[in-house]
Amino acid sequence: MNDVIIIGGSFAGLAAALQLGRARRKVIVLDTSRPRNRFAGHSHGLLGHDHTPPLDILAAARQQLARYPTVRLVIARAEKISGVIDDFCVVTDDHESLRARRVILSYGVADQMPDVPGYTESWGTSIVPCPYCDGFEAAGQHWGLVWSGPQSHNQVRLFLDWTDRLTVFADGHDIAPDIRADLAHRNIPVVDGRIVEIAHHQGHIATVNLDTGSTVAVDILFAHPRNKPSANLHESLGLATMDTPTGVVLKVDERRQTSTPGIYAAGDLSTPILPSVTQASSQGAMAGIFAQQSMLA
Ligand SMILES: Cc1cc2nc3c(=O)[nH]c(=O)nc-3n(C[C@H](O)[C@H](O)[C@H](O)COP(=O)(O)OP(=O)(O)OC[C@H]3O[C@@H](n4cnc5c(N)ncnc54)[C@H](O)[C@@H]3O)c2cc1C
Repeated sequence: MNDVIIIGGSFAGLAAALQLGRARRKVIVLDTSRPRNRFAGHSHGLLGHDHTPPLDILAAARQQLARYPTVRLVIARAEKISGVIDDFCVVTDDHESLRARRVILSYGVADQMPDVPGYTESWGTSIVPCPYCDGFEAAGQHWGLVWSGPQSHNQVRLFLDWTDRLTVFADGHDIAPDIRADLAHRNIPVVDGRIVEIAHHQGHIATVNLDTGSTVAVDILFAHPRNKPSANLHESLGLATMDTPTGVVLKVDERRQTSTPGIYAAGDLSTPILPSVTQASSQGAMAGIFAQQSMLA
């Protein structure tokens, strides 16, 4: 019997494994090697690893975990989960059945690309979700913001710390008259119509093309497509979730335990606001520690 099975071996899952390995607990990490930021050339904002390719951070973490003999990293997809606290069973796509006393879910979320030519190709290069991740490198340039709901108004105010050249794309949303008045007052143009194409050169945006026939040149586009958990194991377990403006995340308590005893969650899968590598690593470490402490004799 393992102590913990960790499902998802990226920033959150490996941070959990590190704490559990140091506590000499027997751990299996299952991973399919598709971290959310794999499209980005560099990861920003993680202390000691700023401006580093995300896959390099993960490779270093995996290498460092090799010194812990009780931690096993397995490239496999967790397909099924069943059982109760002290006896969970996880089945992989290799048909391996693994048992453990605790489970940590850290399988992240997947961004759902809209059906707009050029969007997927530009995602992570010149279409990005977060100014803390990519704003510094594009400071002072012409930014576009794809409106995604009332929360976008706050993003406009936030973005002004990085640039005063901002264009809002309504992309089919009704923007209330008082918000439009505020944007006009701030000299921020609003472009109506739906985005039908991103014209780009190797992922670098040239223009945003609209169904009205107009084309608007920007240097970088901030967008918040819907996302969904990268696996549906939490659904089969009936875990409680909460809605966010872009998708759902798992509910956890202050010890990162989900609504089912013995199952913990960390990382983007359970982060309602400002998901980041820093948050995922911190939450993963805490999930590992709390899972370990829940097994003390
Ligand atoms: C374009 C872009 C740029 C970003 N830039 C930054 C940045 O500069 N700085 C920053 O702090 N944050 C950045 N982020 C956010 C960052 O990517 C996430 O916050 C972080 O990856 C979350 O880590 P995680 O471990 O929760 O999930 P993920 O990194 O998404 O990892 C989840 C892992 O679980 C695996 N998995 C999924 N399903 C299964 C399964 N059934 N079985 C086994 N394994 C499974 C996946 O393959 C993956 O390896 C960026 C995000 C995007 C989209």
